[in-house]
Amino acid sequence: MKILCTNDDGYLATGLSVLSRAASELGSVTVVAPDREQSATSHALTLHHPLRARRTPDGAFVVDGTPTDCVILALNELLPERPDVVLSGVNHGPNMGEDVLYSGTVAAAMEATVLGIPAVALSYVGSAGEELEGWEPVVRRVLESLLGRDRFPADTLFNVNLPAVAPDEVRGMRVTKLGRRRYADSITRAHDPSGREYYWIGGGDVTWRGPADSDFQAIREGFVSVTPLHLDLTNYQLLEEIRAWNLAL
Ligand code: MN
Repeated sequence: MKILCTNDDGYLATGLSVLSRAASELGSVTVVAPDREQSATSHALTLHHPLRARRTPDGAFVVDGTPTDCVILALNELLPERPDVVLSGVNHGPNMGEDVLYSGTVAAAMEATVLGIPAVALSYVGSAGEELEGWEPVVRRVLESLLGRDRFPADTLFNVNLPAVAPDEVRGMRVTKLGRRRYADSITRAHDPSGREYYWIGGGDVTWRGPADSDFQAIREGFVSVTPLHLDLTNYQLLEEIRAWNLAL
């Protein structure tokens, strides 16, 4: 199996090395990853300046672009053959609920799905670093169970979150739906040294809600959460109702 690994935390991230080590037990791995932090860049594509890729001594490609740029360059230019699967992560921090709309980690997997390649995005809800190092065996088993099927579902990617517990305390895997996240006080307003006002998005308190079968609940109870994501955002339940509005010009 030919495996492409990427992420949005940059090529030096602990999560990416955990992922590529786990994946290398399932097939031959090539890493194509951003040269710097690209978290929350969502599905951004670099169109207005050139992209450069360089090779590290261990054979990884490092790109000065977004996770989506990495997947597109990998498939069209950098890899000698089309990969059988694209893995993104392991992200340093959760990608649950609305996070998937902002996440570069999830977007890289989405881009692979758009291009017709099975893809899995993985994120660790705890703090990265040494804690994440011990997750390699669990990540390998998660990948084996998701990729070991006869057929990968079409137009679908798997969004996996790993709970903030020790890897040997994981209670199992749960198939979930996206929960909902609420940020409070997440914008800081302050003044720069010349007295001009500036704003900084981030921080604040995050609260979660969601039914018993949501990603957030599974994580809270110490399970690995697996959410199948579809790329078609059409609200099918509303189609007939909206058509009955008889919209006309
Ligand atoms: Mn990230």
